[in-house]
Amino acid sequence: MMLGHLSPQTPDKIMALMQAYAADPRTDKIDLGVGVFRDAAGHTPVMRAVKAAEERLWQIQETKTYTTLAGDPAFLSALSDLVLGQESPAERRAAIATPGGTGAVRMGLELARLANPGTRIFVPDPSWPNHAAIIGFLGLERVDYRYYDARARSLDTGGMLVDLERAGPGDVVLLHGCCHNPTGADLTAADWRAVAELLTKTGALAMVDIAYQGFGDGVQTDATGLRILVTALPELIVATSCSKNFGIYRERTGAVFVLGETTKSRDMAQSNLTMLNRQTYAFPPDHGARVVTEILNDADLRACWQAELDGMRLHMQRQRQALADTLREMSGSDRFAHLGAEKGMFSLVGANPEQVERMRAEHGLYMIGDGRINLAGLSLDRVPRVAEAMLAAGL
Ligand code: PMP
Repeated sequence: MMLGHLSPQTPDKIMALMQAYAADPRTDKIDLGVGVFRDAAGHTPVMRAVKAAEERLWQIQETKTYTTLAGDPAFLSALSDLVLGQESPAERRAAIATPGGTGAVRMGLELARLANPGTRIFVPDPSWPNHAAIIGFLGLERVDYRYYDARARSLDTGGMLVDLERAGPGDVVLLHGCCHNPTGADLTAADWRAVAELLTKTGALAMVDIAYQGFGDGVQTDATGLRILVTALPELIVATSCSKNFGIYRERTGAVFVLGETTKSRDMAQSNLTMLNRQTYAFPPDHGARVVTEILNDADLRACWQAELDGMRLHMQRQRQALADTLREMSGSDRFAHLGAEKGMFSLVGANPEQVERMRAEHGLYMIGDGRINLAGLSLDRVPRVAEAMLAAGL
């Protein structure tokens, strides 16, 4: 029997954690695992601007016939302005809509493989685990580069620049645009400039995965690094997601943008990206894309979205700061100060797998095995309990 030849796949760790959390009868359990935004009441709301855009679409949409294989041009244009900036050269830009940021990462890597089947993908250590999974599935070689010094609890920019010297023409350097997952440690503008200079020298191709634009310092500021690369480099791949900043996780909304050195190389990239969409799922999902377009192209909806996104960002920042302050008071040490300074939803608390298990078993505190916490899963009243559990586990 053919199907008998299948071998079991390791289950997704975060999904397994979610199931364990759901099955835990303790009423005071705390979920800092799964990467979705939560408000003060613990909900992941539909954003007001999204509801309004959906209502508008319901009224005005007269057909749901197929869009183009690359996705709705109005969506790609509006999202490109948001992500790459309005100065990005349209005549050098290719684009496809994709099912979420995961689809964008997959298609971006597929494009790199089409351009060079032997390409090596340089990935920050640590990174979102699906990067390694997709790279491995595509049969590409992964090279980890130093990014975060777990002992110092900070970026290892020096180590990163040394390791990236080894990426040459035909290789891809994957970078997180902002709100690095899982560390929350982001490159400074000076670091981005140093990376741009290095890539100009080595000829390696940058691929920026930006899944949390607006969760760090604001929707424009979070794209600073990416835009430094847009200006400095002849070629660039960008994978973007609307899941988090529009709160439309299940609508599967994202895009790949590619900058080519010339209009001709742009056309070649566009032809290959369109083919990738066609032979994978033909037309990308459209509902979320249309919601995003409505919001970005309407001044009132855009202002409403911007205000709510700013509120989400500040909510996460307050919880970060509260946890860092409480841990400083309780431990009498500054070793958790990084939690207050890092960006976005995630940080590493510096726990080993045994300590993570202990916090789960003894305190009902759920986090990912590498000690990643989702700061949006906290709420201010639970900060002391979380801090206590962390210190009791020996952090
Ligand atoms: N890139 C990174 C770094 C992420 O953390 C995520 C979400 N977990 C994604 C891409 C993909 O996001 P989605 O497919 O949900 O849009």
